[in-house]
This record gives sequence, structure tokens and C-alpha cells, in this order.
Amino acid sequence: MMDSKGILIVVSGFSGAGKGTLMKELLKNHPGQYTLSISATTRHPRDGEEDGREYFFITTEEFEKMIAQDQLIEYARYVNNYYGTPRAYVEQKLEEGKDVILEIEIQGAMKVKKAFPETVLLFVTPPTAGELKHRLTGRGTETEEVIDSRLRRAVEEADGMDQYDYLIINDDLERCAKELHDIIQGEHRKSFRNTEFMEKIKQDLQRLKGE
Ligand code: ADP
Ligand code: 5GP
Repeated sequence: MMDSKGILIVVSGFSGAGKGTLMKELLKNHPGQYTLSISATTRHPRDGEEDGREYFFITTEEFEKMIAQDQLIEYARYVNNYYGTPRAYVEQKLEEGKDVILEIEIQGAMKVKKAFPETVLLFVTPPTAGELKHRLTGRGTETEEVIDSRLRRAVEEADGMDQYDYLIINDDLERCAKELHDIIQGEHRKSFRNTEFMEKIKQDLQRLKGE
């Protein structure tokens, strides 16, 4: 028996590192086990992205209203747009015992860790800087200018890597998805996440001793 609340997991990493691809693989391999939080953003949808699936695509006005009404666990500005995590869904899923994954950038990650200290922080990086540029360019969804901004942002984010609990090097996708799953399952075994179990077995042992 495990404690009934889910684990909050934050996944960050350079734009183009493969976070989105990795999340899809993880969810595909473990249907129903993980919940991916859907963020709100003011950025425009990319080709193939759907409102309510990748993001809730909203206006700046709507976003600022969500901030004012405290409907976001955290939010940040990233390359000229707002991104934020809606609170209600995350809290509900954690209560239901689901592990909830937030795929967010570093400023947001630090805010979440402060508000929920038991959060597990994971940082995804490609094996080399050259591979990052290759993936960002290869995705073909951004202009050269936006790619440059994202690479500059990556230089800043690299300074924060050591604040994460785990570093995930995304070379082989399948291996990497398995590693991610194993890390999360390992986290479930940590004693501080199993206080109910420990209390129960202690009581049962006391009872047995007295019989
Ligand atoms: P992010 O969500 O971190 O911005 P994406 O998931 O969009 O990154 O991936 C960026 C590009 O890299 C995509 O074109 C994707 O297909 C590719 N990619 C992702 N993971 C790998 C991998 N392990 N090996 C090779 N290419 C990958
Ligand atoms: P993209 O535009 O490539 O989808 O995302 C840009 C960056 O914003 C990525 O680093 C992504 O992880 C981050 N991001 C996405 N959603 C959120 C969010 O809700 N909060 C924060 N702080 N960052 C987010």
C-alpha cells in the first residue's frame, strides 16, 4: 500500500531537447498512469497543435485575468509570450492519486518547487549542443529569428541545470522514456512518500508483539 497522493513532476529542458516527444512516448507506454498538465499560453498554435490538447491558447487579456484570479500555480514569460499552469486540474489529479507532469521552463519550475517542496525536478537535454540546433531547425516550426532567441534562452537555462534533481540525456528516445518511468517509480519508494504505510506496519507489529 502506498500513500494515496500522486507525485508532482516537473520536466524542463532546452527548447528542442525533445520534451514533448518524450512525454508522448511515456504516456503511450503507460496508458492512464500519468497525467500531463495542459498549460495556458498566449503564443499562437503551431501547425498540428490543437486548443485544449497541447495548450489552451488564450489572449493576453484572458491570461492576465487568470493571474489576477489566482487560477495559475505558476506562470512565466518565455520569448515574448506568457505560459502558465492552471491550478484546478493539477490539484484534482494529485488528489486522485495520479502522478502529474508539468512540462515547463525553469523560472516556473523553481516557483513550483518552492510552493510544493516534494516536487521532483527533471531536466532534459540532448547529448550535444549541435544536436539541439539540429533538432530545433529540423522541427521546422519556428523562424530563424525565433530559433536564435530560443538558443540564447538555452544558454541562460543551462546555468540552472544543477538545481534539478535528475538530468535526462535524450539520445535514444525509447531508452530515455524508460529511464524517466524508472525514476518516477523510484521516487514512489522514498520513505517520506510512504508515511501511511510505515505507520500502519508499526501499529500492526505492536499488536502482533502483544498477542
Ligand atoms: P521540445 O518539446 O523539448 O521543444 P520536441 O519534442 O518538439 O522538443 O523535439 C524537437 C525535435 O527533435 C522534434 O523534431 C523531434 O522529433 C526531435 N526529437 C525528439 N527527441 C529525439 C531523439 N531522442 N532523437 C532524435 N530526435 C528527437
Ligand atoms: P513552446 O513554445 O516550445 O511550446 O514552449 C516554450 C517553453 O515554455 C518551454 O520551455 C516549455 O516547457 C515552457 N512552458 C510550457 N508551458 C509552461 C507553463 O505552464 N509554465 C511555464 N513556466 N513554462 C511553460
